[in-house]
Amino acid sequence: MAYAESVLDLVGNTPLVKLNSVTDGIQATVLVKVEYVNPGGSSKDRIAVRIIDAAEREGRLKPGGTIVEPTSGNTGIGLALVAQQRGYRCVFVCPDKVSADKRATLQAYGAEVVVCPTAVAPEDPRSYYNVSDRLAREIPGAFKPDQYSNPNGPLSHYETTGPEIWRDTDQKVTHFVAGVGTGGTISGVGRYLKEVSDGRVQIVGADPEGSVYSGGTGRPYLVEGVGEDFWPTAYDGSVVDEIIASSDAESFDYTRRLAREEGLLVGGSSGLAVASGLKLARRLGPDDTVVILLPDGGRGYLAKIFSDDWMGSHGFLPAQPGPTVGEVVA
Ligand code: PMP
Repeated sequence: MAYAESVLDLVGNTPLVKLNSVTDGIQATVLVKVEYVNPGGSSKDRIAVRIIDAAEREGRLKPGGTIVEPTSGNTGIGLALVAQQRGYRCVFVCPDKVSADKRATLQAYGAEVVVCPTAVAPEDPRSYYNVSDRLAREIPGAFKPDQYSNPNGPLSHYETTGPEIWRDTDQKVTHFVAGVGTGGTISGVGRYLKEVSDGRVQIVGADPEGSVYSGGTGRPYLVEGVGEDFWPTAYDGSVVDEIIASSDAESFDYTRRLAREEGLLVGGSSGLAVASGLKLARRLGPDDTVVILLPDGGRGYLAKIFSDDWMGSHGFLPAQPGPTVGEVVA
């Protein structure tokens, strides 16, 4: 019988898929690593497993303990999944702008969600940073993973994502591209691929225009999960050869094209990674193999990037408008 012992055994070993349509005119082989097939739906399952394993080993998380983290996104889902499997309580703190769907997803795994006002300064005691710090202090047996500084985030990618890419490309990968949020993915995969290839593999970060990694100050952009307004310690710039910025418009255009042309329903940070990755690939030749990491799936963005109304109201003219409901084709 072929089965996994538990859902946690399904984390990682994600497939590589060749892009065939959006790469028109490009000579290099462009492969995407599809992270939405992880059981929690994103690359963040990998860091959740590694962070919890390490906290258990170091005695920072004991049976019956509580995980407290300010997150509403993919990291929360990954942590909730691991916590549920290992019997920990989970408390997530998120700002009130977070959609009801995202909160419901965390609660579905049995996590508790504490909602804080968005319209207060970070130093306000009601801000979600301060509330999560206070809960971590006050709840007995609480553990705060802190994905922006926890070294186990990048380590999880050093130990799993990097080796998978090296193995699955038969050591032929020449360039790796990933969007940069905490920096964990690019730092961990980058360090691994640099080491095994004697520095040959080029590591390229994709950044939303305006974020610090491409020289900005963190001007608001709409693509989620990537870009920062500060330099997290999880980011190791020494393994990054180049940062290629792309706009929201480019990122969302590629997000929609990946669904329509490649059958890959992915989130906006995947569109960003592909937008920047293809700018790179256009400069390369037939002997190059580019691997672009796609962090999560598109279901969570149907009301935004995949909605013509939302795209229109934010000034993005969809390159390929969706079919009109009720249109009669004679
Ligand atoms: N895309 C999405 C949707 C994410 O949630 C994240 C994590 N913040 C990233 C990309 C970036 O990954 P990393 O934090 O490893 O840089």
